[in-house]
Amino acid sequence: MNPRRAALQRMGALVLVFAAAGRTLAASIVAVRVWPADDYTRVTLESDQPLSARHQLLQNPLRLMIDIDGLSLDPALRDLVGKVQPDDPFISGVRVGQNAPRVVRLVLDLKQPVAPQLFSLEPVAAYRHRLVFDLYPTHEHDPLLALVREKEAADKLAARSMQDALGEFIARVDKAVVRAPTPAPVLPGAPAASAPMQTKAPPPEPGPPSLALQQRIDRLIIVALDPGHGGEDPGAVGPGGTREKDVVLQIALQLRDRLNALPNMRVMMTRDADFFVPLHERVRKARRVQADLFVSIHADAFMRPEARGASVFALSQGGASSAAARWMAQRENAADLVGGINVAAVNDKQVMQAMLDMSTAAQIKDSLKLGNEVLAPLGRVGRLHKRQVEQAGFAVLKAPDVPSILVETAFISNPEEEARLRNPDYQAQLVEALATGIRRYFARNPPLARNRQL
Ligand SMILES: [Zn+2]
Repeated sequence: MNPRRAALQRMGALVLVFAAAGRTLAASIVAVRVWPADDYTRVTLESDQPLSARHQLLQNPLRLMIDIDGLSLDPALRDLVGKVQPDDPFISGVRVGQNAPRVVRLVLDLKQPVAPQLFSLEPVAAYRHRLVFDLYPTHEHDPLLALVREKEAADKLAARSMQDALGEFIARVDKAVVRAPTPAPVLPGAPAASAPMQTKAPPPEPGPPSLALQQRIDRLIIVALDPGHGGEDPGAVGPGGTREKDVVLQIALQLRDRLNALPNMRVMMTRDADFFVPLHERVRKARRVQADLFVSIHADAFMRPEARGASVFALSQGGASSAAARWMAQRENAADLVGGINVAAVNDKQVMQAMLDMSTAAQIKDSLKLGNEVLAPLGRVGRLHKRQVEQAGFAVLKAPDVPSILVETAFISNPEEEARLRNPDYQAQLVEALATGIRRYFARNPPLARNRQL
């Protein structure tokens, strides 16, 4: 046999070996997860090998067809059918089938038109390979509009209660006047003190009090609350299994209700359910509603389990204020890796980065003021990890025009603090402390008029 032919034969054999190896190494699904939310619904297929997929949107009925290569239908994949909840805003049902040998077809039946994004993620943290389908609405709702509607509803409610109070007051005055004896005529120049009280009662102002009320609520204070992590990113997990993403959402929802009950204040949540929001998206949401401040709420793990106490962080233009602060910022900034961000979709990433790098000294100065106002009442709830506001390069605090702080409410890695974080009384105390700090900040630093007319 000539040497060239022998070499070709060897190569052929090698190709066969590779092909055979490829056949035996079919991917298996490790887990399937569905994260429904109004913002977007995410479906994650976790597998022991990277998967490649193609997708197509089809009409009548509206559905998304996804073909995944190198996969056989297995029980884990069939689980997906049962994981779609009836209240999912986007998906009404899932069908799975073996479309061809080694090709699995998923069909997602849709409730509304979607803009799908499919992407894969490399193994990170506890996760293996992930294939992710994000279903976004084709029209993004306007969060500012939602806040204006909330404001109008609050306005009506406040006007009604004001009118009720005024009506009650008038009724009381009327009764008092009826009961009062006929006042003696007051001579001109007589001392006012001798005049009966009833004649001094101011006449009820005519008309509805909407003008005064209008002035009171004209300047709506918007607070962006940012419960950390969510969805694919559980955040830190305590020794007892408590997940950071769950406790911080509970605290933030209570704080939202507490602040919304205050006159003139409206809260915008970066997430109000269990789904993942990328860090830049949290910043963008706050800027879209021209938030007056931004508070990110966390309960992280620390290097040492005995570490305890609350901390408050602001952005730093230079280095971190301590090694611990730097470590914390690195941890938080890694959230996008675990949560799973579609890098290709962030097409204006450079623009975004330039915008984020404009973090101004003024923003940091205001953030430190806010941080100090929050730190004081927090110190009365439990102990503080550090008595000063710490600073480091947290990506989520980089809105150049919004005073922003990140509050570590406690260390979930400390078994005692984990237990407290789950305790409704302790949560209520934290909420009250945060609300007090935020109110004091606005009392001492009244917000300037917003340049966009609400
Ligand atoms: Zn965190």
